[in-house]
Amino acid sequence: MKSQIVIAIDGTSASGKSTNAKLVARALDCVYVDTGAMYRTLAWYCLRHRIDVQDARAVAGACRKWKAVLHCVDTGSLRAARLLVDGYFPEKEIRTAEVSAAVPHVAAVPKAREWMVKRQRECLQFGNLVMEGRDIGTNVFPETDFKFYLDAQLEERSRRRAADGVRENLAMRDQRDSQRAVAPLMVPLGAKVINNSNLTSEQTSGLIIAEVRKRLADK
Ligand code: C5P
Repeated sequence: MKSQIVIAIDGTSASGKSTNAKLVARALDCVYVDTGAMYRTLAWYCLRHRIDVQDARAVAGACRKWKAVLHCVDTGSLRAARLLVDGYFPEKEIRTAEVSAAVPHVAAVPKAREWMVKRQRECLQFGNLVMEGRDIGTNVFPETDFKFYLDAQLEERSRRRAADGVRENLAMRDQRDSQRAVAPLMVPLGAKVINNSNLTSEQTSGLIIAEVRKRLADK
């Protein structure tokens, strides 16, 4: 790849963004960025410090105060950008049901999104990126030529979460993410939409990789 690229993968909850973004990042030697994990880390931090996630001023204050820095790790099979809080990545803690319920509230706070978008753009310092989230193609890197939007039937998405041992009202989280005033979840202009209800992750990531290679060859 000649110039730096960003592959934006947006989509609904449990639509396979993480699995496929990791497969694409490995295949194309890019740094993987899970922006949902960044918002989850903020929600976890607020819960831990008894900050009301529905109080926008308090959440904005947390963003000014917390000691959170970007870090790029190389696990051997994958390079990934992470947000460390006081030097710690709360990998397991951010996957609880409590954090999942709190995260759409902090993600709706404009100042929190401003803070996150800055950090997400700073990830370019690590190299070519595969970045997954809800507003990557619309808001974080709207100029990228590589936009994808993943979705699957609600039943299938709920089944996937349950298989991971998580029971969650995905429809409610999607509704909150789609209806918020700032950077709501939507299909980015020019994105390739992939409904993967009946596709394996190898097939889904294969479609993304082929499309990126085709667009790079056409440049
Ligand atoms: O992808 P994940 O399910 O971990 O995202 C958790 C939550 O973080 C989403 O439901 C959404 O509220 C928020 N989010 C966001 N914008 C992003 C990524 C995640 O608002 N780019």
